[in-house]
Amino acid sequence: MSKCVEALRKDEVDALLHNSYVWSYVLQKPSYIDLHVQPTTMLSIGFRVGALDTPKNQALIEKLNEGIAMISDTQRQAVILDYTSRKLYKYDVQDYLYADRYVFIMCAIVIVLVALHFLAKQQQLKKRTNNQIRQMIDYDSLTGALSMAGFREKVKELLLENPSTPYIISYNNIKNFKFINDKMGINSADELLCFWVEKSLEYFSDKEAMARIYADQFAVLCCLPDDNGFEAMETNVFKPVKEYYINQGNDYEVQICSGLYVLTPEDYKNINVDKMLDCARLAEKKAHLSVTGGYEVYNVDQWEAGRLLSDICGHFSTAVKQNEIKVWYQPQVNYRTGEIIGAEALCRWNHEKLGWLSPGQFIPMLEQTGLIYDLDCLVWEIVCKDIHRWNEQGFKRSISVNLSRFDIEKNKNISKHFKNLIEKYDIEPSQLRIEITESAYAEDNELLLETTAQLQDIGFEVEMDDFGSGYSSLNMLTEIPVDGIKLDYVFLKNTKNFEKSKIVVKHILQMLRNLNYKYIAEGVETKEHADFLIAIDCERMQGFYFYKPMPVEEFEILDFDNINNRPH
Ligand code: C2E
Ligand code: MG
Ligand code: MG
Repeated sequence: MSKCVEALRKDEVDALLHNSYVWSYVLQKPSYIDLHVQPTTMLSIGFRVGALDTPKNQALIEKLNEGIAMISDTQRQAVILDYTSRKLYKYDVQDYLYADRYVFIMCAIVIVLVALHFLAKQQQLKKRTNNQIRQMIDYDSLTGALSMAGFREKVKELLLENPSTPYIISYNNIKNFKFINDKMGINSADELLCFWVEKSLEYFSDKEAMARIYADQFAVLCCLPDDNGFEAMETNVFKPVKEYYINQGNDYEVQICSGLYVLTPEDYKNINVDKMLDCARLAEKKAHLSVTGGYEVYNVDQWEAGRLLSDICGHFSTAVKQNEIKVWYQPQVNYRTGEIIGAEALCRWNHEKLGWLSPGQFIPMLEQTGLIYDLDCLVWEIVCKDIHRWNEQGFKRSISVNLSRFDIEKNKNISKHFKNLIEKYDIEPSQLRIEITESAYAEDNELLLETTAQLQDIGFEVEMDDFGSGYSSLNMLTEIPVDGIKLDYVFLKNTKNFEKSKIVVKHILQMLRNLNYKYIAEGVETKEHADFLIAIDCERMQGFYFYKPMPVEEFEILDFDNINNRPH
């Protein structure tokens, strides 16, 4: 029967026919509750059992009759009795599971929930215990500052998160702390330590960290302060600590000795907190020897460099807003025709505090901190705006701009940026030449080669800047797909061996011509340089002999047709 019901459920048969006795027995099985019984009397189905009168069927019927004849009366009675007295169906395990399935499901859910809850509690407990242990390891129980172990971890974390923030590590120590312990009592001395930490934590930001290393010795990692920052730290942290007892009515000023270590770029790459602290501690020892305490810097040069970095990079975005950054133009000439043929755009920074800065001073720092891209975008924008204005005035001028390899790393699709710029200012691609220094090419940078090709596809001329300044190999000339070469002024500067230099330049130019490169010589400082260059067929030049880089207002009013009219 169960197989028949299965077949019915799978739609393999349309209906099952059986006598109602059997049904009333079978339907006691709980999972058959959904089956519907229709008495045949309600359906006008007449059915018979028959067989064809074949010898095989006759044999079959005889076999059946033999079987029936073998059923004794008692057995026959028993069968009838079985199916007419509504023998109670006996549940098997499956039936019980089916009949009480909702109860079982509920129980299972409850068990799973209880188990999950238990597991979560266990996890929570483990986490809390771990946290408590971590807390005990990472923090100082007296003051709430970090412990040495916690400081090591935190410094690593902060340096990795803020690789371009100039940091210092200071090692601070209270002078004569033993005397304070004896005179004011241990509890009061402890309160002083807690007060110091409280004031420091109030003052320092999330990017900074403070630890109590031992007794009255504290380490701090903080952003390199400028003069104002120093003053603020003195007012908000050190002064209140120094005057702690004075403010309580005691005539005793706390003296603090500090040693400062300015982090070097190397420290950000290989973070060794103990080494940095050792340096700061060494400086602190020196400060300790002085009568009044104060501070000493471990690496003064780095300190100065760090301050400069902070003055330059920290002030950069304000400088942009305040228009401190300018684009100057240095004309490029054709010495043979006496015309100005273009100019190179060079940036200058009139720094609020440091005055006029040349690119050599700030570009390496901006490169170090990733800000060079922002500077260059600004320069390119200004140049395009100027070209647009000149176009409107009827002067078609071409300008060379510098593209740093950091720009390409920052914006992998820099050619699109340039394309957008010329569209925005409605200028032709031939009006913008792009200089990429040879050192960038020397690194065999796939992206750089791709970018060069993309820029050329748009129609820009790409020039290799500073050719000969140190990195070039002649092989580069066959492999790098630039349009032009800018000869570095090293060839001209070498006055000691100028005669030899002349031979080298002459042959390089010969080679460039054979390879179909355009070329220009930069750093032309004297008439001798210019005459020599023209003699070897190099007519395009840029250098102080003709013009120095100048503000746009001066550049605009030059006589472009005759360089002999230049102001001297
Ligand atoms: P560069 O692209 O090779 O630019 C030429 C440099 O040579 C300029 O120095 C220019 O003033 C200087 N110079 C020109 N003629 C003479 C000369 O006759 N004698 C001597 N001794 N020097 C001459 P500057 O303006 O100080 O720029 C230095 C470098 O800074 C540039 O070298 C360039 O690599 C970079 N730079 C300048 N402006 C930018 C900029 O906006 N973006 C980027 N990424 N780099 C820039
Ligand atoms: Mg250049
Ligand atoms: Mg150059």
